[in-house]
Amino acid sequence: MSTRQSASEKRKKLAKERLTTFREKLYSNPELHEEYRRKERERYQKRKLAGQIKKTEELTKKQHEKKTRQWRDNSKLYYKRKKQLKAILETTPSSEDDESLQLIQANEIPESPNEGTPNEQPVLSQQHNAIATWAHLDPVLRSIREEHPNARNIHFISDGPTSQYRNKTNFYLASTLPFIRGFNHVTWNFTEASHGKGAPDGVGGALKNLADRIVSYGTSIPDADTLFEQLDLNSSVRLFKITEDDVKKSAKLVPPDLKTVPGMMQTHQMISTKPGLIYTREVSCFCNFICGCYSPKEFDFRENEASEEENAEPVLEVGKWVLVQYDGELFPGTITQIVDGQYEVDTMSCAGSNRFFIPSKRYEGEKVWYYFDDIKAVIPEPQPATSSAQHFCVLPEIWAKYTKKCV
Ligand SMILES: [Zn+2]
Repeated sequence: MSTRQSASEKRKKLAKERLTTFREKLYSNPELHEEYRRKERERYQKRKLAGQIKKTEELTKKQHEKKTRQWRDNSKLYYKRKKQLKAILETTPSSEDDESLQLIQANEIPESPNEGTPNEQPVLSQQHNAIATWAHLDPVLRSIREEHPNARNIHFISDGPTSQYRNKTNFYLASTLPFIRGFNHVTWNFTEASHGKGAPDGVGGALKNLADRIVSYGTSIPDADTLFEQLDLNSSVRLFKITEDDVKKSAKLVPPDLKTVPGMMQTHQMISTKPGLIYTREVSCFCNFICGCYSPKEFDFRENEASEEENAEPVLEVGKWVLVQYDGELFPGTITQIVDGQYEVDTMSCAGSNRFFIPSKRYEGEKVWYYFDDIKAVIPEPQPATSSAQHFCVLPEIWAKYTKKCV
């Protein structure tokens, strides 16, 4: 090999290493990652406006073939990675649905999270909802009380995805389980939209990176138990293993007919000083145990029974039509993917005020990931605005309601 060749290879290797370091940093810091993605979206939009991105019909046959190949390879790689990750984490399907939910008394809660089914190998849960959240928080509550027996107040801070934290089940559990564990004052605080990820996500990212490194040094991680053992061995982060059984126990704490807490979407703080009784307000305040600042609203889970109408909260799922906010503008679109509380939405293109069309060619930029707070409403499918059905509009009353709020 000539010197010149090896020098160029050395440069390439260095560049590759730099890129890897950059990516590791990016992926372990969700805020940085989101910022990066936002900039990339902006850059793409700018290049598109400047005509630097060719439309599919403007490409030569060769370029078109190359592009198609790239898309196909990217999507193959994406699904391969997703499958690998799933294979590691998944051991069993969710069991929440087949479990009939009953309210049990506080003294019936088993003291040890690991008791019961002693001969069976505990299986790990894949659930990410409020019930699973509390199965994961319970050992943390216990250890705080063990190490700090005088601790009576507990404050939670999280981002606000409806599936995990911003829902009645979470509020109910937050106003009951900590009391069972000996706390007597609980607050749950939601950060402002797009500012939710912080230290805990960084810790999670660092653990994932560590797992990658362990594998690259030659230890294989075929299942969740090995992952747990290896991370426990190689990091100072304290880990708890949560089994499917723990999640089932957590599910049993929730009565089946919980009433919807009004104003959930505007709530930034939930306070509880008595089991089942909560206060919600739009701004968090910590000036006193339960102060009157920012007009807290009382809600008692113990008094209220759910009516069917109230339970019919719109659900965000793949295929639903939604109204999303992008750069201050509203667009209708359908949800195409939901991952970790973020939503990929395929939007229509704008052709004027409440006039949209379905783009005939698809660009990468039209499918964008949104946070929950960017999704303004679940809407009926947009209807043709003209007889030729070239343009579509969102139901005018819905459009008026959200454009007013938006400006
Ligand atoms: Zn206050």
